[in-house]
Amino acid sequence: MISLIRRLTRVAALLVGLSLPAAAQAPGFDFDQLRDETARRLSEYIQINTSNPPGNELATARWLKEVLAKEGIEGQILDTAELGPGRANFYARLKGDGSGKAIALAHHMDVVPVSRESWSVDPFAGLIKDGYIWGRGALDMKGHGIIQLMSLIAIKRAGIPLTRDLVYIANADEETDGLGSRAFIDRHPDLIADVEYLLTESGGSRVENGKVRWFGLNVGEKQVYWQKLVVKGKASHGSRPTPYNPVPRLARILTRLAAWETTVRVTPAVDRYFKAQAQAETGERRRWLTNAARALKSTRARAWLLSDPERNALLRNTISPTVLVGSNKTNTIPPEASAELDIRLLPDQDTVAFRRELLRVIGDTGVTLTMIGDMAPRFSAPLDTEMSRAIQRTAARLLPGVPFATTTSTGATDRPYYAGAGLICYGVDPYLVDMEDIRRGVHGNDERVSVENLGFGLRLYAGVIQEMEKRVKSEE
Ligand SMILES: [Zn+2]
Repeated sequence: MISLIRRLTRVAALLVGLSLPAAAQAPGFDFDQLRDETARRLSEYIQINTSNPPGNELATARWLKEVLAKEGIEGQILDTAELGPGRANFYARLKGDGSGKAIALAHHMDVVPVSRESWSVDPFAGLIKDGYIWGRGALDMKGHGIIQLMSLIAIKRAGIPLTRDLVYIANADEETDGLGSRAFIDRHPDLIADVEYLLTESGGSRVENGKVRWFGLNVGEKQVYWQKLVVKGKASHGSRPTPYNPVPRLARILTRLAAWETTVRVTPAVDRYFKAQAQAETGERRRWLTNAARALKSTRARAWLLSDPERNALLRNTISPTVLVGSNKTNTIPPEASAELDIRLLPDQDTVAFRRELLRVIGDTGVTLTMIGDMAPRFSAPLDTEMSRAIQRTAARLLPGVPFATTTSTGATDRPYYAGAGLICYGVDPYLVDMEDIRRGVHGNDERVSVENLGFGLRLYAGVIQEMEKRVKSEE
């Protein structure tokens, strides 16, 4: 512990030159001191290995409870029986005066497994060196969870009066089946009944070569609509072909699906996202991104817009045939053949209408199409709310001149389930991490977050909460 503190002091000294201007300081907080405390807490949190499977989130839930108890905030360890041995959700609340609705700060405690041989440091040592905290979960998303925790603690310590309660939620199992958030939402509707907004991961900010291209507020998620396609035929010997072989029939269907150009359209969130991207471009690309709906009518602009896999995925429903099963013997015609389709629908897509279209393109009434897994509730948050404006104002203050972008995830998080329970959910990034670090670290190797970024995250959360409080007061 002593050497850790000594290292940190050195880090803090290095970072003095990088601190934000005094104008960004909120009254009542010593952000430099808080940032270093956040780094120490994150180091401890990383040292509790919550690789999922098996998860082991009961250990982190206990640790969170202990940390908050020292601050006079009582937390609850929940859902241990439902989630199985060694697993739990965690919940705590910092009370306001009740005149405003609550804000939830949510994160997941589990992390994805590591391949130790590919790391240059011990992924569970919580090492602090060269101005970074290293380890699995530093970015996804223990670092975020600790920034939320320390923001709440800082507000409590400073004795800032709140109108809105701050709810702290830590879930198990986000990285595999999302059982933690689902158990929590199903079993404790009373704990989130008064929550208006929930903030969690996946903001989608972009930093390239040290330059912040845009600050992202994530407002929606593509719907996971996985399907299994089964074609029945008649089993027989491969030496005597018949018209009832299901394999070529399935192949014909997949060819049709692969050639299907699903409709391209620009949702309001994606429109705003492209407009923010446009600010870094020049010439025709700037024009195309500024008005994507118009650009899609021109062949050249459309080809350019869709040539990027991320933009393509944000503009349409996508289908990727992945798993393929026929016979397991060269000389045997199987009784059935099947394919699994990774289908992702735009956040506002009606699934019934899509299914009708899908069956039309399949064009073969002999197939069965069944859902793989459960369908999450649809998640598409409103773009203009008190919270989105509070985040935009805070980001503008901390990052003058940086465009603000409403982003949409092509991947899945816990948010649809919270949204299904009536909460308005947003994804934010409390750190500005270079693309390169994200690609290498998130679900990869040598995951790390800079101490400086923890300072940014604290300012962001403290700023947003204070903006929300101002808003309530000015309405009175
Ligand atoms: Zn995550």
